[in-house]
Amino acid sequence: MDRFGNFLKSLSLSEMRKGLGVTGRYLFKRKITVQYPEEKTPQSNRFRGLHALRRYPNGEERCIACKLCEAVCPALAITIEAEERADGTRRTTRYDIDLFKCIYCGFCEESCPVDSIVETRNFEYSFENRGENVMTKQMLLEIGDKYEEQIAKDRMQDAAYR
Ligand code: SF4
Ligand code: SF4
Repeated sequence: MDRFGNFLKSLSLSEMRKGLGVTGRYLFKRKITVQYPEEKTPQSNRFRGLHALRRYPNGEERCIACKLCEAVCPALAITIEAEERADGTRRTTRYDIDLFKCIYCGFCEESCPVDSIVETRNFEYSFENRGENVMTKQMLLEIGDKYEEQIAKDRMQDAAYR
């Protein structure tokens, strides 16, 4: 539209009337405001929140230190160091995720061949001190232990969709 047309449009306040029309349409509709944190919205079983490292039921770590998650992470948020154990298996000696770098894309969990690194439904976390943004292997394992029941249920539901 030319400049004169734009000028006429601005005089007619058509944009504002359009906006008020949307407000008017929703004025008497059922309200969808949720009183968080007392009320919560439904979550998908694929929700991508705080990360966790999982174990097998016998307590063994799932992670085999293949570093696929580290390689695929577009934000370079994962740092892994690994070594071979006496029994010949590989395990991580360091597994850090920098949550300031993470963009919660879920690529790490998609790439993991043993369902070890996952993202939980937990989004209610915060940091108060410098450095707390880096989740260590121990912290990630503890989160995995805490939410294992929900994680396993979500993964089963996911498998049923595929
Ligand atoms: S969710 Fe994405 S950005 Fe975050 S650690 Fe995993 S791969 Fe990296
Ligand atoms: S979490 Fe999974 S993808 Fe990452 S190093 Fe361990 S086994 Fe490999």
